[in-house]
Amino acid sequence: MAPPGHVDLSGFLEGLKRRNPGQPEFVQAVQEVAEDIFDFIADKEAYHRWQILRRIAEPDRVVSFRVVWQDDKNNIRVQRGWRVQNNNAIGPYKGGIRFHPTVTESVLKFLAFEQTFKNALTGLPMGGGKGGANFNPKGKSDSEVMRFCQSFMTELYRHIGADVDVPAGDIGVGAREIGYMFGQYKRITNEFTGVLTGKGLEYGGSLIRTEATGYGAVYFLENMLSRLGNSVEGKTAVISGSGNVATHAAEKMVQLGGKVLTLSDSEGFIHDPDGITQEKIDWVKAHKTKRRGRISDYAKEFTGSTFHAGQRPWGVPCDLALPCATENELTGQEAELLVKNGCIAVSEGANMPTDLDGVHVFKEAGILYAPGKAANAGGVAVSGLEMSQNSARISWKEAELQQLLKDIMQGIHERCVEYGGRAGTDHINYVRGANIAGFKKVADAMLAYGVV
Ligand code: NDP
Repeated sequence: MAPPGHVDLSGFLEGLKRRNPGQPEFVQAVQEVAEDIFDFIADKEAYHRWQILRRIAEPDRVVSFRVVWQDDKNNIRVQRGWRVQNNNAIGPYKGGIRFHPTVTESVLKFLAFEQTFKNALTGLPMGGGKGGANFNPKGKSDSEVMRFCQSFMTELYRHIGADVDVPAGDIGVGAREIGYMFGQYKRITNEFTGVLTGKGLEYGGSLIRTEATGYGAVYFLENMLSRLGNSVEGKTAVISGSGNVATHAAEKMVQLGGKVLTLSDSEGFIHDPDGITQEKIDWVKAHKTKRRGRISDYAKEFTGSTFHAGQRPWGVPCDLALPCATENELTGQEAELLVKNGCIAVSEGANMPTDLDGVHVFKEAGILYAPGKAANAGGVAVSGLEMSQNSARISWKEAELQQLLKDIMQGIHERCVEYGGRAGTDHINYVRGANIAGFKKVADAMLAYGVV
């Protein structure tokens, strides 16, 4: 008979579903990790006895609060805000804030759980958290966004702090929103501390933070390819999204000699067979952020390109794929299509963009597949560097930070290779590698603390 505390994988998943009803994204994220972890800890008694995975999969706390604000027509609007503090075993909680109508407690719990592993993988001392609100910044005026951000921070400020929990941006939260939230935090507390990252350069932000997630996802791709004597140069790439991560992934692909064929948003994708050049990427950045426009306008602006309404780009033949928009945007069928069309590597700029069926397709096909928690960790890594610069009240130079980002991505790749390899084969299971390497660091810290 198994000793007390020993639950097998199916018992664990059953309990997980029972304890988290109506939270499919969270269950999906934990399930994906649990499969690898149970295999890894099979012969490691302490992790079972001290219930480590069960404890990581139960957030330290979930704070939910009302966010009330007034729109430009003087209507009173009520939204719900959250902060999920998942685990701070290896450092202060750290993870972005998302403003999007699809935000729910389940989505934020999944993101905070993933963030715990991702942050551990960077090698920096950061725990995992995530927050957000079911607020849609689209179509809102600047003053409406400001009032919302101020109201959101008026509650959030009690739960965060430079050594407690350090939020950053995510979908719908960019430089503008971070500025409004930091301003309100400073006003309420009368403290100028590094309580948020992704700040403007004038008030404590770090160079290359904006670029870091997208650039890092391409560096990770380059690391996977170069291990096999290959490279990004001369390859075609399909990218989804047209926000922060997607445009910077596209930029780094172009810098390394790749040809980017697509970008997308929630209304469809554009296909540019001539390749999306730096000049075109600059246009997309300005169009999506300054003008808050739609990607469909790209096809009107650049001849030879086409817009495909309501569709995703995975049917366009390519060598490399970078999903950089949102979760579950790449299904099993779409993964099959990519593989059939000759795609050799996938690097996830977004969090959990591939659903469980898609993950199995990539694993079975044996292509290079980097999960978001490894591939998109560049953003939080530079956020970690922003925290260090804020604590020391210094600013590092761009060249130093570029090198640090490259080194950190290489380090994450090495950790994935260390734990993702199998004796007798050259193939690396990057999902397994990332899950185990991230888990081990957090788990060992938790073992040191005892039952807390
Ligand atoms: P942005 O808000 O800058 O861009 C998001 C992009 O994704 C937009 O093109 C948006 O289209 C599209 N999108 C959003 N929701 C959907 C949807 N439901 N269906 C289709 N397309 C959608 O966000 P980021 O670029 O910052 O984030 C993208 C992904 O990367 C997210 O998964 C995020 O969690 C992850 N990530 C981001 C990091 C960062 O540093 N910013 C760090 C690590 C991960 P539209 O304009 O139509 O809304």
